[in-house]
Amino acid sequence: MNKKKTCLFCNKPLNGRSDKKFCDEQCKSAFHNKNIESKEAYIRFVNKQLRTNRSALRKACPEGKATVRKQFLISLGMNFTYCTHNWKSNNGNTYFFCYDYGYTNVDNPEKVLIIQQQSYMLNQ
Ligand SMILES: [Zn+2]
Repeated sequence: MNKKKTCLFCNKPLNGRSDKKFCDEQCKSAFHNKNIESKEAYIRFVNKQLRTNRSALRKACPEGKATVRKQFLISLGMNFTYCTHNWKSNNGNTYFFCYDYGYTNVDNPEKVLIIQQQSYMLNQ
């Protein structure tokens, strides 16, 4: 069965050339704009989450180091999917940073160790 191609924007069946993707220029530019919008929205969402993560880590560890429950960070809005960069310590632990605050996994899977970024961590 020959599946009829549809417009990527409005889903109406397309006639004419087989490489056509849109009904017309209007659908093409509407699709393009929508695409840019959703990408921008995604960037805004990630930026916001990174800031929330950073502030959760800061609240949980105002100074020095702190071992805290992941659940506590989650209650402050933390989402562990997002980080800005990572750093590997000499003993092989990987720290996941959200700007200047980072965390690493500890023996207890329910907890993480939070640290603040030091200048020597940036010279790797
Ligand atoms: Zn269309």
